[in-house]
Amino acid sequence: MSARLLDGKGVAKAIREEVKRGVSELVARGVTPGLAAILVGENPASEIYVRNKTRASEEAGIHSETLRLAADTTPGVLAETIDALNRREDIDAILLQLPLPSHLDSGEFIPRIDPDKDVDGFHPVNVGRLVQNDPGPRPCTPAGIIELLRREKIEIKGARASVIGRSNIVGKPMALLLLHEHATVTICHSRTRELAKVASEGDILVAAMGSPGFVRGDFIKPGATVIDVGINRVEERDAVIDYFGEDESRLAQLETKGYTLVGDVHPREAQKVAGALTPVPGGVGPLTIAMLLDNTMRLARRRRLSS
Ligand code: NDP
Repeated sequence: MSARLLDGKGVAKAIREEVKRGVSELVARGVTPGLAAILVGENPASEIYVRNKTRASEEAGIHSETLRLAADTTPGVLAETIDALNRREDIDAILLQLPLPSHLDSGEFIPRIDPDKDVDGFHPVNVGRLVQNDPGPRPCTPAGIIELLRREKIEIKGARASVIGRSNIVGKPMALLLLHEHATVTICHSRTRELAKVASEGDILVAAMGSPGFVRGDFIKPGATVIDVGINRVEERDAVIDYFGEDESRLAQLETKGYTLVGDVHPREAQKVAGALTPVPGGVGPLTIAMLLDNTMRLARRRRLSS
């Protein structure tokens, strides 16, 4: 068997087009959705994420700005920055780029964001809304995965789903969203016994642990849908060949860039067992950004047109 590749890029493009149309309708009613990203310090990966997010927002017609704060920003200054954005009428969505420098505790600042401007859905009020299945912004990565499953016509209702990872950003909200879609969900983590056996009970398997190629063929129920959330760099030729075989384009990438990307799933083994699989890159990553735009548009609509 060779797994069907799920088109995260294509689905993300469709969502972005829909957001663009939604934004045009809002603009016609005098509302330009506004997204503000706060970037503290100089983490190169965060720089790239924020740049991609702001570029995508602008393409969708969303007003977007990035507030850059120095790595030694005090808690007081970060708090004031959030408060000022909470007060601004033209800003509908606030994104606090994580991780923060170690002297700043995200657990202190996420709850400071107005929950109705919390574009990532990480505020405790929005976590409560998620648990209760009440309306509110949902964390972008798991929300994007649900959209992908829906649009690729993968049945969630009644399915067994295994989620590997229990972070607040991916694993836990993913499990809750699958549950709300009527899957029977098992959450696995680093202390799960017989992980491969438990994971392989899933008709849908979501891997979000941050460990390259960790999910091998025996973790996967034959014919299952495998969603690979991980994004990891591989820099060794032997590892690239192990993951991708003698794939010319991967080896060429290794030559030119010095690395290629692999997810948390072993792609070559998964291809043989799974029924459907998200590629890395081009699977879950593009969906995360698309859902950020979707959340921004919805927050603007709700806050500025519903009163
Ligand atoms: P975290 O490090 O916060 O959480 C990892 C989770 O995986 C933890 O719950 C941990 O268990 C579990 N885990 C780690 N190792 C193992 C193991 N060997 N066996 C079983 N469980 C394990 O990561 P995130 O949730 O933030 O991210 C996960 C991955 O997804 C990363 O690769 C990240 O880069 C990627 N990511 C991709 C996004 C995208 O847009 N494509 C967006 C966000 C993340 P425990 O709790 O027991 O420690």
